Formats: sequence, structure tokens, C-alpha cells
Amino acid sequence: MEIIKTVAEMHKLSDKIRQSGKTIACVPTMGYLHEGHLSLVIKGKQSADCVVTTLFVNPTQFAPNEDFEKYPRDIDRDAKLLSEAGCDYLFAPSSNEMYPIGYNTEVSIKGISEPFEGKFRPTHFNGVATVVAKLFNAIKPHYAIFGQKDYQQTLVIKQMVSDMLVDVEIIVSPTIREEDGLAKSSRNTYLTTEERKTAITLNQALKEAAKAIEAGEKRSDKINKVMADYINNAGAFRIDYACAADANTLQQPQEFTSGQDIVLLIAAYLGKTRLIDNFITQIK
Ligand code: AMP
Repeated sequence: MEIIKTVAEMHKLSDKIRQSGKTIACVPTMGYLHEGHLSLVIKGKQSADCVVTTLFVNPTQFAPNEDFEKYPRDIDRDAKLLSEAGCDYLFAPSSNEMYPIGYNTEVSIKGISEPFEGKFRPTHFNGVATVVAKLFNAIKPHYAIFGQKDYQQTLVIKQMVSDMLVDVEIIVSPTIREEDGLAKSSRNTYLTTEERKTAITLNQALKEAAKAIEAGEKRSDKINKVMADYINNAGAFRIDYACAADANTLQQPQEFTSGQDIVLLIAAYLGKTRLIDNFITQIK
């Protein structure tokens, strides 16, 4: 696997691959990789001739009070994992490469980025959309693979690609979980042993709500209450949101309709660690 550090080198490489008639899949990450990320690389390999994984802890998607400084970083470890997973190229630019002095443009998406994460992390999706747009311009991929783990992010990126006429197909890949159901996350490394045991509560709350839906519940406040009660019962969480929403628009009607695709979305703090999870299902 080759490591590329500059945008100029990346442009050259991408042009060479495209001129040879081959396709490129891009997997944007912030590193400290786990099996969730590696599943995206494998999906990329299945979708295109070669995979470019990006490793960039993007400062603009963290608010000043968030964990940018302490976010786990280990490029040697990541490069080894990627190489073993069959990744072809690792694009690991510096902050100066991505945000050179004088940089003054931001991508901002209205609507879909405003509820849920947008409400609790108001600057987050501008940072995400901006860096993803820049990575797409640097790599010129045919496909980009994103995890369902960050569900709202997949909708925001699809909106950006559609609105900006970006010629990239967005592929969403399922959430990879620990054996007990906890969604794998680089931030799980922050959890104490005790918190790690409790963290499973979020996935269980999603399953409880899915059971209520399976039993015929259509009212959003009732579905939301199932999740909130379950999480609050564990006593250790501070919930940002635990809500059912339309899977495409993220709208929250008082009552869903039969056959409607919905997503159950949770974000909650366990101690100082903010965890998110989601589950897609359909109203009976
Ligand atoms: P991150 O490094 O956390 O920004 O994530 C990079 C990409 O990996 C995003 O598209 C995430 O949705 C995806 N991802 C993170 N965790 C998982 C997981 N457990 N399963 C599948 N994809 C994931």
C-alpha cells in the first residue's frame, strides 16, 4: 500500500488511475481504525478497481469544547491494518494541505443537517461537508463508502453530492458491532471498564423501540419514550436525543404511516464520551 501525503501527489495518482480506465473507491476516515472502517475498505474493493482510504482528523468538524486534541491517532497502526485489509492507497494529508493559509470557503447544507446532530453540534456538518467535498476533489473517486453508523451524515453527504452535481456514487455500508451489540467506534477507547459494560444499553434501547414498532406502535412520542425510558433506567446516560424519524427526510410526524421507512436515532453521553447509534426499520 502506498501512502500519499500531498494533494498534488493525489491528483497525479488519481489522473493516472482514471486514464488507465480503472475506477476508484474512496473511504474517508479520521483514523484509529477498527473493523467498522475496514468493512468499508472491503466494500470499496468490491465496488471499484482500487481503494483510497483517507486519514485526516478534521479540525473543522469539532467544536472548541470537543475532543479534537485527544482524538486517538496512530498512523503506523492504521497503515498496517489497511494494508492487511487490501487497501491500495492511504491518503493522509496534513492540516496545511487540507486548509492552507488563506483558506476561506465552507460547504453548508441546510435542512437535512439541522435536526439531531445539527442541533447539538451546530458546526459539525459544515466541517464534515467541507472536508468531504475537498477529499472528493483531491481524490476524484467514482464511489465513496460511508458507514450507516453515522446515519445523518450519509444523508447530508448525499444531499451535498446531489446539490453540487458531484459525480460520485455514495454507498452506505452496515454498522459493524462488538459481540454484545455495541457499535464499534474509535471513541469507545475513551470508555472505562464499567462504562463499556453499560454502553450496550443504547443498542438495547433501539431493539426495544423496534419491538414496540413490530407490535404496531406508530406514534412517535410513544416510540421515543420507549427508548428514553430504557436508557434512563440504566441511570448513567445524559441523552441528547432518542427519536424516531422518517428515514429519508428525518422529519418527525406525530404519527407515522404503515409501510413508512423510519430510522431510530440515539445520541447520549456516557460520562464524558458521546455515543451514537441507529436502527432502520419500517412501520407496520
Ligand atoms: P470516522 O473515522 O469515525 O469519521 O468514520 C469514518 C467512516 O467509518 C464513516 O463513514 C463512519 O460512518 C464509518 N464507521 C464508523 N464506525 C463504523 C462502524 N461501527 N461500522 C461501519 N462503519 C463505521
